[in-house]
Formats: sequence, structure tokens, C-alpha cells
Amino acid sequence: MAADPEIVNATKILTSTVARILIPFIIIIGIIVAGITYFKIKLFKKVDEIKKRKKDSKNNHSSELNCPLCGNALVERSGKFGSFYGCSIYPKCKYTKNIG
Ligand SMILES: [Zn+2]
Repeated sequence: MAADPEIVNATKILTSTVARILIPFIIIIGIIVAGITYFKIKLFKKVDEIKKRKKDSKNNHSSELNCPLCGNALVERSGKFGSFYGCSIYPKCKYTKNIG
């Protein structure tokens, strides 16, 4: 029993049409996904960098001073009466020191 040539033809046309639509579709989806992934990675890296920088600047603000009561780092804080150094484990330790 030989296959009907018309059916074979129709199958071929269908296959090529599907391929013609599907392949670009897959490529476009791939590009979009790759783009989003790339952007996400970039964004995460930037956020990490900002976080790190913030942490670093916070650490720098501790300015090598240590609390005489508990030994933890003193950090620069600002309150009602201006900036001062406060213990980094506040409120556990309430040591403060005026700047200047
Ligand atoms: Zn302290």
C-alpha cells in the first residue's frame, strides 16, 4: 500500500510551514531569554556592587575607633544634635562619643 502522493505533499507543505514559523519563533524566544538573562545578571552584579560599596563605606565610617565599653566598632551616626559616634551594637551598648 503506497502512500497517497497528495497526503505526502500536504505533509511536506505542513512540515515546511511549521518549520518556517517555528524556527524563527524559537530563535526569537532564545534571543529574548538570553537578553533577559544577560540583563538580570548585569542587574544582579550592579546591585551586588552597590551593596558591597555601601558595606565598604559603612566599614570605613567605623573609622578604626572601637567602643571603650564593649570593644565593638564605633559608627558615625546623626541625631538631634548633629553627628556623633555610636557603638555599632546599639541598643545593646549605648556608648556615644562626640565628633571633634
Ligand atoms: Zn559598645
